[in-house]
Amino acid sequence: MSDFTPSALFDNHGRPLEYVRLAVTDRCNLRCFYCMPEEGIQYLPKRELLSYEEMERLVSILAGLGVRKVRLTGGEPFVRRDLVPFMERLSQIPGIEELTLTTNGVLTAPHVPALARMGVRSVNLSLDTLDRTRFARITRRDELPRVLDTLYALLAADIRVKINAVVMDGQNTEDLLPLAELTRELPVDVRFIEEMPFNGGSHEATPATLPWNHRRIHEHLEQHFGALVPEAGRPGDTAAHYAVAGHQGRLGIIAAYSRTFCGSCNRIRLTAEGGVKTCLYDQGVLDLRALLRSGATDDEIRQALTQAFRHRAANGFEAEQRRPVHQLSFESMSTIGG
Ligand code: SAM
Ligand code: SF4
Repeated sequence: MSDFTPSALFDNHGRPLEYVRLAVTDRCNLRCFYCMPEEGIQYLPKRELLSYEEMERLVSILAGLGVRKVRLTGGEPFVRRDLVPFMERLSQIPGIEELTLTTNGVLTAPHVPALARMGVRSVNLSLDTLDRTRFARITRRDELPRVLDTLYALLAADIRVKINAVVMDGQNTEDLLPLAELTRELPVDVRFIEEMPFNGGSHEATPATLPWNHRRIHEHLEQHFGALVPEAGRPGDTAAHYAVAGHQGRLGIIAAYSRTFCGSCNRIRLTAEGGVKTCLYDQGVLDLRALLRSGATDDEIRQALTQAFRHRAANGFEAEQRRPVHQLSFESMSTIGG
């Protein structure tokens, strides 16, 4: 026995870590141009991905450290075989109060009843346009109808839906209002995300020169809907949410590139190959797969995690500055999980 006493996990800035985002695969059935190249993707060999057993063990350890919320992401979570039984096991880990996922919705609809049965209460659905032609151009696949099936299946099952739309200059800005209009009749959150220049998307901008930053998105929405009424958020929220008079759902804006929300960040990111990121913008600070596969005890893993968060950057700008020079270009979000 070591003398290490598990306790809640806090970083060196006093922020509690209560939320883990677990990328279960780096593979995807879409090719969103801001996320993945069209061809030539080098997927990780299966042995380099964490196994479900390894992920379960990590989530149990994290739950012992105070993590309460798990989000599965990817790549596309549903392209990994046997995702649903894995989720069922995660949902039974003591301490995990909220299990959720981020999905592109192409393969999701048939699994919605199982998600509802295991207690999933909310799902993030990525959807950048309601126009089939633009959807096919952005994602390089003609799959909008199946994504819409997922939207309606989730609503019918009473699972809360948060639609995430990346705002891309010259690509889908005409889609902002039609997407936002969904909130009029449907009880959904429609959240607009600043595009981050990862994987050679549509811009090379800095946060200061980003054509569609959170302020411009806000102005654009207000021109159409009138004054947006800010809603109180939960600690750790990345989205600023707004009510619109008479609408059933809410609007949201996520300043992912301007990074306005780092002060209350409560997230741990685990990549599909078991890397820990203490910030979306850091280069990865701990190799949990190596630890797990070298026979580390739970205590050793807890200590390694605790240590990693003692050196966490104050915000995404500091994390970016600390990256080694050879790693200044960012990896695809499909390996980080967004
Ligand atoms: N495949 C799933 C999906 O699309 O929902 C989960 C993984 S995906 C990487 C998670 C989120 O990251 C998606 O909402 C996607 O729009 C977002 N994302 C990917 N690349 C991005 C970028 N360059 N800028 C902003 N958001 C991005
Ligand atoms: Fe796939 Fe999601 Fe990336 Fe699109 S954003 S390519 S759906 S991982």
